[in-house]
Amino acid sequence: MVAELQRRGLPVRTTWNGLHAATDSVRLARPAHPTLVTAVQRYHRGCTVHPERRVFCDCEHRRAEGARIIRAARPAA
Ligand SMILES: [Zn+2]
Repeated sequence: MVAELQRRGLPVRTTWNGLHAATDSVRLARPAHPTLVTAVQRYHRGCTVHPERRVFCDCEHRRAEGARIIRAARPAA
């Protein structure tokens, strides 16, 4: 992920989490695009049906919301 971010002109300052996982956390060297900031805020808002469960809710609504995520295209290997 770091290589892909840097290829897209987004230098990464640090990373944490993510070892052997499908997710990772990165800190960019400069402010992210406003749409990315909004996406992070939306993630932290968690489930809108069950806000008490925050980001850990696995209800049908939350899964449907996750299914609408458009994944970034990966370059051909
Ligand atoms: Zn929920």
